[in-house]
Amino acid sequence: MTRHDILIRHATVIDGTGAPRRTADIAVDGDRITAIGDLSGHSAAREIDATGLIAAPGFIDVHTHDDRILFSDPSMTAKVSQGVTTVIGGNCGISLAPMPVPVKRPVTPPLDLLDASGDWYRFPTFAAYVAAFNATPAAVNCAHYVGHTTLRAITMDDLTRPASPAQIAAMQDLVAEAMEAGALGVSTGLAYPPAIAATTEEVIEVTRPIAAHDGLYATHMRDESGHSIEALDESFAVGRALGVQVLISHHKLAGEENFGQSVQTLAHIGAHRADQQICLDCYPYEASSTILTASHAKVSPRTIVTWSVGAPQMAGRELSDICAEWGCDLDTACARLIPAGAVYFRMCEEDVQRILAYPPTMIGSDGLPHDERPHPRLWGTFPRVLGRYARDLGLFDLETAVHKMTGLTASEIGLAERGELRAGFMADITLFDDRTIADRATYTDPIQPAAGIALVMVNGAPVWEDGRPTGARPGRYLRRDRAAHKMAAARPAG
Ligand SMILES: [Zn+2]
Repeated sequence: MTRHDILIRHATVIDGTGAPRRTADIAVDGDRITAIGDLSGHSAAREIDATGLIAAPGFIDVHTHDDRILFSDPSMTAKVSQGVTTVIGGNCGISLAPMPVPVKRPVTPPLDLLDASGDWYRFPTFAAYVAAFNATPAAVNCAHYVGHTTLRAITMDDLTRPASPAQIAAMQDLVAEAMEAGALGVSTGLAYPPAIAATTEEVIEVTRPIAAHDGLYATHMRDESGHSIEALDESFAVGRALGVQVLISHHKLAGEENFGQSVQTLAHIGAHRADQQICLDCYPYEASSTILTASHAKVSPRTIVTWSVGAPQMAGRELSDICAEWGCDLDTACARLIPAGAVYFRMCEEDVQRILAYPPTMIGSDGLPHDERPHPRLWGTFPRVLGRYARDLGLFDLETAVHKMTGLTASEIGLAERGELRAGFMADITLFDDRTIADRATYTDPIQPAAGIALVMVNGAPVWEDGRPTGARPGRYLRRDRAAHKMAAARPAG
């Protein structure tokens, strides 16, 4: 075939495998890449001159809370403006589906990160979510976990207790339905109050149905501070009990007394990777973000409020300023603000860089799309890794940076025919300028598209061009492909 739908000419191709860049043309027909190489004799309905630009596989945001925004704002501008073409949702125990009964109001934090209104009676089953997405897709592809905390909220009256055998059985049925419908696996958020009472045995039993599907166990661990090694051991134990792959979400070391301990946690992860399937992700910032609690704020040297039901006008303000303005202590201020969200400055740059640079680490934003004044990771994560960490600081080369957000992720998650620029693969493609790419979202000005993203294509359709969304909605719900994952697992570690 020499006549194509789209020809990208003279691109510098970074193919997502980690291999060195090369100059090539890329042909796209329908939703697939059909040829890569010297295509000077070919023609196309649309030709794009990519001279001076990098062509990479579309970025996969491996850790998101995008379950609801895929429907409420399907342009997904925060993501496509960064070059993201696939988002993985349902993380940290929080999934929008299934919700077979109206959710209790007020919504139990952290489930309110998805929707504080409680208007959740929308997807009674996981299958209903998948069907709705495929009927009215967003600009990007997606795949989700089913969240353990969501399941607890559905099946339990008292979230301060471990689940009873009958409640575990009810949750297992919901997990089985979700896996049949295309869930990637189960996620947990064991550090959050509604799941703290869950024992390791409860987590193993609730998660058990994923084993038959070769699903993933993704966990926001019980502890990310002084007991990280024990929390890692608990996560690994769940994976071993079920014979499934473990994903350690947004790996970090919070609290000054724990700074530097990523040396030990990464060594611990590395040692266990020899015996079982373990992967991890992180975001490129030294501040975290989640719901506001007085206990978190007390141990955080600096806290910014991202949204508040109690005092909406305080979104974007420093908690210390709010205390001064109100003339009250931190406990009183938090009580007036909640339900609310916050950014906490509790990590050190050295740990962030060490975790980012660790070869198995994938990139995930953990962005919170419904926050009034979100952590800048929502709009900046991927360009920040490519610009600040690869180009400016030289933490790794650009090929490695791209691999951490494309080929590595597709193979760990099991997304077939994605994550690499290769003839026959799906045409998820991002064109960017490696000289100018940069995150522009900051803690004080967090809603800012990145610089340097020229064009983003999902399943062959441009979704971001000339600095704005095109309005196209070519996204699809993706299922975990066991063969794609096994193929990747068989590859030598790099
Ligand atoms: Zn989390």
